[in-house]
Amino acid sequence: MTDIRRTTDDIGREFETHIIRMSKQQYNLKAGLEYDRTLMESESESLLKLSKEFLDSYLEPRSFYLNCINTIAQSRKLPISLEIYEKRNTEISCNKYNFAGKPVNWGSWRQFNTLSRDIKERKEIFDFFLEKASQLSSLISTRFNIAQQVYSLYGTSPLDAYLEIEKTSYEKLTNFVGSLGDNARKSFLSAADHFAPEVFDKETLEYYDDFYVARGRIYTPLNKYLEKKNPLKIIEKVLGEWGFQEDLTKIRVDHENREKKSPSAFCFGIQIPNDVRIVFKRVSPFSDFTSLFHEFGHGIHATSGIAEDPYWKRYLVPMSVAETFSILIEMLLQYKPFLQEELELSDEAILEILDRRHFMNLYFLVFYAANSLFKLEYWKNNYSLEQAESRYQELTKRFFIELPGKYWLLHHIMPEYDLYSPSYMIASIRVKELMQQLIGEYGEFFWKEKRAGSVVKDLAASRADFDLTIWNMDIEPYLEEQSEFSFF
Ligand SMILES: [Zn+2]
Repeated sequence: MTDIRRTTDDIGREFETHIIRMSKQQYNLKAGLEYDRTLMESESESLLKLSKEFLDSYLEPRSFYLNCINTIAQSRKLPISLEIYEKRNTEISCNKYNFAGKPVNWGSWRQFNTLSRDIKERKEIFDFFLEKASQLSSLISTRFNIAQQVYSLYGTSPLDAYLEIEKTSYEKLTNFVGSLGDNARKSFLSAADHFAPEVFDKETLEYYDDFYVARGRIYTPLNKYLEKKNPLKIIEKVLGEWGFQEDLTKIRVDHENREKKSPSAFCFGIQIPNDVRIVFKRVSPFSDFTSLFHEFGHGIHATSGIAEDPYWKRYLVPMSVAETFSILIEMLLQYKPFLQEELELSDEAILEILDRRHFMNLYFLVFYAANSLFKLEYWKNNYSLEQAESRYQELTKRFFIELPGKYWLLHHIMPEYDLYSPSYMIASIRVKELMQQLIGEYGEFFWKEKRAGSVVKDLAASRADFDLTIWNMDIEPYLEEQSEFSFF
């Protein structure tokens, strides 16, 4: 009997044509351009059919298999996801305070917090939004239940699929994030007290001084050092000289200012490796630098893909691998020799940059340790909403400061993604290791060494075949670096 199945490569090729069309629309949507919703729905339908065709016939490649399950789950979740998007801004809204002429809502909350210097106001909205969060909770848990059901039809779960893709185990990953958070705690709390008067307008950190208030404010004093520098020119020069000249020709940058454009920068690999796009909006000098460097890291990762490789190898990259390249390029901005050489900054300016970057990295570690552990346990133990809230509260207390348990429902990643936050932590530790290797091998000016550039290029080109098993993942060097402050 002849095999009438299409090969996985054939299915992959068709997958790619739909993914390209779909990504163009998603890109337009986020970039504040015209987009075609009907086309998106029909592309999503085609992807759903292709996923079923794959799952009916094949078990390998495993990353393709798991991605097909995810595609089905995504499309089942679509109506409820749209409902959450909608309600998030209408329900989580406070008429008493305005931002840009409209009531402060979930979408403008962080911008409002960055600007408002009235502590009572900030606390009032925080408490008010927490109360309102309950109105989203049943939708959010329904959405997670749909994912759980779809995955279980194929003998796995969102948690197991994630662990499999990242080639780790529940034990290992929970230990890893737990010890990062525990070890960052003490330095974080001391540095938080140091910065509290300037950043939070009071003596000490409290529950409503969240990560995003700090992030929105702490870099302001650094702007004066970078005002006259053009981040786009600098990153293109650095990457061009490092051996990515040809890659840069494939990366389009949109820096126009449009009203509906997403305020945070992003990078889309529309067709890998030939059509890669970065979108960014000028916000403030220092954050323009970090966000452009970060997105260009994603950019060269995508353009390094090998055109002849099958669909799954080019596109289905573990999240911690995707963040490895973006964080690597971003980390140049807290690397002293780079700041001296390329940005010609004084020692004083560099110390100030390092102090503030280190503080935010520690805040990230303690906050994301709680977030990551929470989500891992959520899936493992099938928490009810009440259990989830009380556990989140305990975890925030363990790692930094006790937050009301409902806070997780207001976050932009935790209620939305099955699992994502541990990937940033894995990537940060891996990048520290990679940088140490590059420095050891090519010297402290490694970003000027063509041979170092080609090591990075080869790693990037491996895409889904990136070897996750060769890293020590020693947390010490990273923790040590982030705990260094000029004021202690
Ligand atoms: Zn990123």
